[in-house]
Amino acid sequence: MSERILIDGFSRRVDYLRMSVTDRCDFRCVYCMAEDMQFLPRQRVLTLEEIYQVAESFVALGTRKIRLTGGEPLIRKGVVQLCEKIAALPGLRELCMTTNGSQLAKLARPLFEAGVKRLNISLDCLDPQRFRELTRTGDLAQVIKGIDAANHAGFRNTKLNCVVMKGRNDHEINDLVSFAIERNLDISFIEEMPLGVINEHSRAESFFSSSQVRDRIAERYTLIESAESTQGPSRYWRLAEAPQIRLGFISPHSHNFCGTCNRVRLTVEGRLLLCLGNEHSADLKAVLRSHPGQPERLEKAIIEAMKLKPYRHSFEVNDEVQVVRFMNMTGG
Ligand code: SAM
Ligand code: SF4
Repeated sequence: MSERILIDGFSRRVDYLRMSVTDRCDFRCVYCMAEDMQFLPRQRVLTLEEIYQVAESFVALGTRKIRLTGGEPLIRKGVVQLCEKIAALPGLRELCMTTNGSQLAKLARPLFEAGVKRLNISLDCLDPQRFRELTRTGDLAQVIKGIDAANHAGFRNTKLNCVVMKGRNDHEINDLVSFAIERNLDISFIEEMPLGVINEHSRAESFFSSSQVRDRIAERYTLIESAESTQGPSRYWRLAEAPQIRLGFISPHSHNFCGTCNRVRLTVEGRLLLCLGNEHSADLKAVLRSHPGQPERLEKAIIEAMKLKPYRHSFEVNDEVQVVRFMNMTGG
């Protein structure tokens, strides 16, 4: 039988699925959530079995990489067993996870043993008090313990994710780079995206572009542009002083990366989102619940949804909310 693959209306192959396994989180990062966030009632959320069925259908349709995210994926009960089942799907090359690190001290080893290949861990600053301010509830020491536990458990090519905000953490950029070098971690700097209504700060005022981040790094290190790609939105650079680590820049504002987009996202409500910056979606929960035990119905719905994938997002740097969804709903 010939290989089955997913192709969108612009001839792009879609082989990367990001799945949000919960909208809930133990942090309330200022750029991601409102302080009094309302979470979904349980019956609207996919069960772990339903999440697995969606993963299974995507892998049958040629998906090679799955990333579990959220909300905070590690606070969903049963997530390690879910990882074990997804990692075992024949044809899947890589199961990855994006986490805030708060639970890694105890879960890094079970995750590694379950077959998770790579972790992205969010870390926006290294000052405990500021960390608490930016996450509203987070404990920096616990997250650093988690990062070290991931290294000890055997994870390699772990990447730190850092959202940079002017006046909040931009002065810590080079300390974060040093931290990454000391622990042999890659690090990506992300421009803040206008997802969801937040009142805590003005996204326009806090905007700090990737090129400003590079200027700051150039005050301490020598940056070398690299042609490497992981097929994602990151552009990579290396440092003459520490060539073993990679610096990524995710710049939805200053660099549009849509032309080579290979990914789609599943919200924890079972909505398949075809683009981070648009509302085009397909309701897979309805298909799962009206045709239980019929993977062919799910596969058909997924194949048809590809036609809805728009060519590009259109984020602008201003305070207008262009997408009402919050990142924790979207599966960042
Ligand atoms: N809770 C996990 C974490 O923080 O890593 C996974 C989910 S979180 C939504 C995934 C990533 O999205 C994190 O690296 C976070 O920093 C980033 N993020 C959240 N809101 C964002 C926004 N408005 N703009 C840019 N990145 C954002
Ligand atoms: Fe939670 Fe991650 Fe959003 Fe922070 S960025 S509030 S850790 S989901």
